[in-house]
Amino acid sequence: SKFAGRATFTIYDPHATDRDRSSENLSELLKLAVSKQLVSVAYQPICDLASGRLLGHETLMRVCDFDGTMISPSVFIPVAEQTGAIVELGTWLIDQACSDMVEYGLGSVVTANVSVRQLKAPNFSLRITEILGRHGLAPQKLAIEITEGSDIFLEAQAVRNMERLRNLGVQIWLDDFGTGFAGLSWLRRFKFDVVKIDRSFLHDCQTSRGLSLLQDMVGLLRNLDHAVLAEGVETEEQQMLLQRLGVHSIQGFLTGHPVPIEEINQVRPGLVA
Ligand code: C2E
Ligand code: CA
Ligand code: CA
Ligand code: CA
Repeated sequence: SKFAGRATFTIYDPHATDRDRSSENLSELLKLAVSKQLVSVAYQPICDLASGRLLGHETLMRVCDFDGTMISPSVFIPVAEQTGAIVELGTWLIDQACSDMVEYGLGSVVTANVSVRQLKAPNFSLRITEILGRHGLAPQKLAIEITEGSDIFLEAQAVRNMERLRNLGVQIWLDDFGTGFAGLSWLRRFKFDVVKIDRSFLHDCQTSRGLSLLQDMVGLLRNLDHAVLAEGVETEEQQMLLQRLGVHSIQGFLTGHPVPIEEINQVRPGLVA
C-alpha cells in the first residue's frame, strides 16, 4: 500500500548506505591500487634556507579512483593503515622514489613518510636494503619520515628497524614535531638527522606568543644539534622570519607544490636567497 511504501522510505537512509559502501569500496580499491596503477607519487622540493638551493624532495602518496578522481590522503591514509594496505603501498612508493632518484636526480635526498605499521613489520629494513641495492642508490640519499603523533617507542620491533636503517646509513627524520605528546622524550632517545617543525607553529606566529614558541622550539632543536626544517612555508615574509630564527631548511608552497615526476624538471622559481 501507499502507507507501507512511505514507511519503507523513511527507514531507508541513502546517505548511510553510500557511506558504508564507499568505505568498503575504498579498502577494496586500496588493495588493488598497486596492481591497477591507481597509486602515484607527488614530489615537493625542500630548499636550504641560507643558499636557496634545492636539498631534495619529499614524496607524497597519491591515490585515484577508477574514474581518475583523486582521493585525499586524509581519507585514504587512515584506511590504508587500518587495513594494512599501507605496507604494500608504502613499499611501492619507496621503490618508485628510489627509481626516480636514480633516473632523474631529485637533489641529495628523497624522503618517504613511513607509518608505525610499516616500520614494525619484521622485514621492513630488509626490504629497504633490497630496494636500495636493486637501484644502486646510496642509503644516505633516502630518508624516512616518522611522525611524532605515532607511538614508535612503544614498539620494540619498530625501534629495532629504525636502528637497523640508521646503521645502514638511511636518514631518519622526525615529522610534525610539536604536534604529539612525546616530542621531547623522543629527542632524548634518538638523534634525528632532521626535525620538521609542524606547519601549525609557523601559521600561529602572527601572535607574540606564537612567535616566541616557534623561536624557542628552533633554539631547543639547534642546541641539541638537530638540523631544523620548517614545513608549510608559503610566503617570502615567512622565509625571512625563519632565516632570522636560524632554521636550516624549508618546505612549502613557496618551494613548490607537490607535483608528479614529469613536472619536476620544468624550471621552478627557486628561493630568493
Ligand atoms: P605530511 O607528511 O606532514 O605532508 C605535508 C602535507 O602538507 C602534504 O599534504 C602537503 O601537500 C601539504 N603542504 C605542503 N606544503 C604546504 C604549504 O605550504 N601549506 C599547506 N597548507 N600545506 C602544505 P598531503 O599530500 O595531503 O599529505 C597529508 C599527509 O598524509 C602527510 O602529511 C602524511 O602524514 C600523509 N602521507 C602522505 N603520503 C604518505 C605516505 O606515502 N605514507 C604515509 N604513511 N603517509 C603519507
Ligand atoms: Ca611528512
Ligand atoms: Ca609534516
Ligand atoms: Ca603528517
